[in-house]
Amino acid sequence: MNVPFLDLTAEVAATRDAVQAAIDRVLTRGWFVLGPEVEAFEHEFAAYSGAAHAVGVASGTDALTLALRACDIGPGDEVITVPNTAVATVAAIELAGARPVFADIDPATMNLDPAAAERAITPRTQALLPVHLYGQSTDLAPLLDVARRHGLRLIEDACQAHGASYGGRRVGGIGDIGCFSFYPTKNLGGYGDGGMAVTSDPALAERLRLLRAYGWKERDRSVVRGTNSRLDELQAAILRVKLPLLDGWNATRRAIAARYDAAFAGLDGLRLPGEAAYGTRIYHLYVVRLSNTARPEPVEGRAPEPHREAFRAHLTGQGVGTLVHYPFPIYLQDAYRDLGLTAGACPVAEQAATEIVSLPLHPHLTDTQVEAVVAGVHSFFGR
Ligand SMILES: *Cc1c(COP(=O)(O)O)cnc(C)c1O
Repeated sequence: MNVPFLDLTAEVAATRDAVQAAIDRVLTRGWFVLGPEVEAFEHEFAAYSGAAHAVGVASGTDALTLALRACDIGPGDEVITVPNTAVATVAAIELAGARPVFADIDPATMNLDPAAAERAITPRTQALLPVHLYGQSTDLAPLLDVARRHGLRLIEDACQAHGASYGGRRVGGIGDIGCFSFYPTKNLGGYGDGGMAVTSDPALAERLRLLRAYGWKERDRSVVRGTNSRLDELQAAILRVKLPLLDGWNATRRAIAARYDAAFAGLDGLRLPGEAAYGTRIYHLYVVRLSNTARPEPVEGRAPEPHREAFRAHLTGQGVGTLVHYPFPIYLQDAYRDLGLTAGACPVAEQAATEIVSLPLHPHLTDTQVEAVVAGVHSFFGR
């Protein structure tokens, strides 16, 4: 039995006819950028997120960059985020011209620790940028409180959390702006790049609309310095087919996660992802942790921590694909050395980086594939 870490072909097969019809509709109309499909999808996605407005852009990275720029955050400003994220989060902060500042994570949720975020605030801080990692919401209430007390914006990186909730509300619509990616592997993915920024503030929505298209209020009238970051009609039409299926797919992800949880309970040295009591997790990734006693500090280029690698090698031998999200805290990667941070800056995130492994989990895994993952993990632990 072969269980690739991810395989999108089953999802393509399940939606092919409807997607084909949507593509044909766009081709027949002959309108390919910022047209009726994007507008309809923006309304549908805003309603889904519980935000008043949604603005389609070219990627999740761009959604984050334009969100910061819409809040007038740029050169001279600092934005507090986590070191255990897709490099895109940090790239977006720097693309806006601001400086990323890293705060450590809560060891239970692996998301931004509100107390650490508050300690990282300086007179230059303008925003908090928590990441709802792996589909688990960050604990937003204490962060919103920190933001309010210090006069900061709160921008949600919800690129891994389409449909996750916090206190009964969907994430993305809770902070000032929520940012989503439609990269093909996300819980809601297009067949190319795409992104969305959602907000309930009409002034921010207007700024986002200007920034994504050359700052044009009307054609050839730039009222701010903008860029070109547009969602295209083909992606929007495809995403409109898939949005109504998202909740069902997320429920299937949760059901598979529950099967893993039950099968792996009590394995000594294996920590399960768990779910915070404050919200519904949508398992963009199912990430376990292999505990260790001694390990080298996680420095890029150095041999990875042995126990986790032995686990991965064992699963590879059983035909089960795994990945690590993410093996190196951003500030320990070569491109970010000049931020001046060294090992020890965020010890909780650094330790987690040596322990985490992502197991295959997507809505089109078959029962036999789920059983093969369980058997592979059990055999590593001698069960
Ligand atoms: C995927 C992702 C992004 C970036 O999205 P792109 O559409 O690839 O630019 C940003 N943040 C996180 C946490 C992500 O997982």
